[in-house]
Amino acid sequence: MKVAIFSSKPYDREFLSAANHAQLHELTFYEARLTAQTCPLAAGFRAICAFVNDQLDAHVLLTLAREGVELIAMRCAGFNNVDLRATEQLNLTVTRVPAYSPYSVAEHTMGLILALNRKLHKSYNRVRDGNLSVDGLMGFDLHGRTAGIVGTGKIGSVVARILHGFGCHLLAYDVNENPELKAYGLRYVPKLELLEKSDVITLHCPLMPDTYHLIDEEALARMKRGAMLVNTSRGALIDTRAVIRALKSGRLGYLGLDVYEEEADLFYQDLSNRVIQDDVFSRMLTFPNVIITGHQAFFTQNALEGIAEETIRNLTAFEQGERPPGLITAEKVVV
Ligand code: NAD
Repeated sequence: MKVAIFSSKPYDREFLSAANHAQLHELTFYEARLTAQTCPLAAGFRAICAFVNDQLDAHVLLTLAREGVELIAMRCAGFNNVDLRATEQLNLTVTRVPAYSPYSVAEHTMGLILALNRKLHKSYNRVRDGNLSVDGLMGFDLHGRTAGIVGTGKIGSVVARILHGFGCHLLAYDVNENPELKAYGLRYVPKLELLEKSDVITLHCPLMPDTYHLIDEEALARMKRGAMLVNTSRGALIDTRAVIRALKSGRLGYLGLDVYEEEADLFYQDLSNRVIQDDVFSRMLTFPNVIITGHQAFFTQNALEGIAEETIRNLTAFEQGERPPGLITAEKVVV
């Protein structure tokens, strides 16, 4: 099957080509992000493969359908950028990769927590500059602290196990409870209680209308003064402007982000020679207690192999008229 791969980087080409070793599909790699301007590139392809910041709104989907595209194969877990009502109306099939190394994202989350707490981003630069003073680098023991996990699915439950290993007390908020996590002393509590009692809050739920700006002004006001907030899930779970106000007032003590609500025009590009035009993003970069990574939590060799293999499986199943393993429907996600 002819497949147009959007937002492709050299590593996408490497891993998808390797997973396509049986040469079942003819893969064409476009560096361009999928947008209203670039969607005509999909003409003549039966499937397109897209990523987290590709634009899959009703207008783009209509153009894709008119160009003859039948399958949207997302090479990621989240699908908040796909208008599922439109895909249903246009009879477009949508697949994703629901599970591929939850360890990749969970371990990156831990990296952010540890780096923020022990100020590794500052000490790295200090030591290279010959400054071996530890003033201002004091952290706290994670052992004995309370961590609040929002969303205890595949990634959140790995984070829970790791934090248990650090000796944290675990609170969680989720619309579906995972009884296995009770073995780690994890207690499900209402969202408000999690906000009020946690020293570290980490977000692992999907972005949906229900969870949009889950952390807003009101939620921040309920958090412990000086608490740490980490988001490796989707940017719009957090109201970024409210978070900036909370950082300025000192209410929020630490912020670790791998995602940002307006990341589509920034992430996965080298902007080092340009002036960043997003003032909200630029403001966040000025805080000493903020670490931002550019949506790289998934970026391990294991995850890329898993994503590529599952994407090829989805393409092959679709082409052969079978139910793809990562099929998404408008009503519910079929895993
Ligand atoms: P999952 O589906 O296994 O788990 C999500 C959990 O969130 C589920 O337990 C679900 O019940 C819960 N949830 C749903 N609605 C909720 C709500 N309103 N409030 C609280 N909890 C709710 O998903 P996962 O594989 O663990 O991934 C979690 C998220 O991580 C994804 O949605 C994706 O956005 C993000 N992600 C980020 C990266 C990255 O590189 N930064 C990579 C993969 C996934």
